[in-house]
Amino acid sequence: MVCIIKGSVSKEMKFLVDHMLGKLAKYLRFMGYDVFYPPHNMDDDEIIRIAESEERKIITRDKELAKRANGFYVKSEDYREQLKIVAKKFNLRMRKDMFLSRCSVCNEPLVKVPKEEIRGKVPEYVYETHDKFYMCPKCHRIYWYGTHTERIEKEIRKILKEGEKDEN
Ligand SMILES: [Zn+2]
Repeated sequence: MVCIIKGSVSKEMKFLVDHMLGKLAKYLRFMGYDVFYPPHNMDDDEIIRIAESEERKIITRDKELAKRANGFYVKSEDYREQLKIVAKKFNLRMRKDMFLSRCSVCNEPLVKVPKEEIRGKVPEYVYETHDKFYMCPKCHRIYWYGTHTERIEKEIRKILKEGEKDEN
């Protein structure tokens, strides 16, 4: 008998989110999920090849691609609705240890950087009022828990909560 502990399934789940779902890709990355976002000129064969070789679940608004690749078809054009449906389908959760662990632009895992190295790279008031900073090794964007990320975190929590309510 296979016993699945709730939440553990989605722990290492990886996705390939097609280019019509850019904001969804970004939000999933904020949640800490590994999301490959192909350039818009990539053809379906290549998309399917990457998804298979990297064991990624395809999430797409392309019905035909979903069918061919055994992917998950998302009908809604609204990112909130998309996130709600995807979170429900794959049992995704908002986890404190995963939130803000990945660059929302490049998908790279963020690394912690000493505060001294950040001086001059973030607004002065941010530097003065925060102690923990993270950097994307690829694009060098700096992340911290501030009003912007707090707003995103709250929004995601709200969306997931709404999804739970819909179930009942
Ligand atoms: Zn980056």
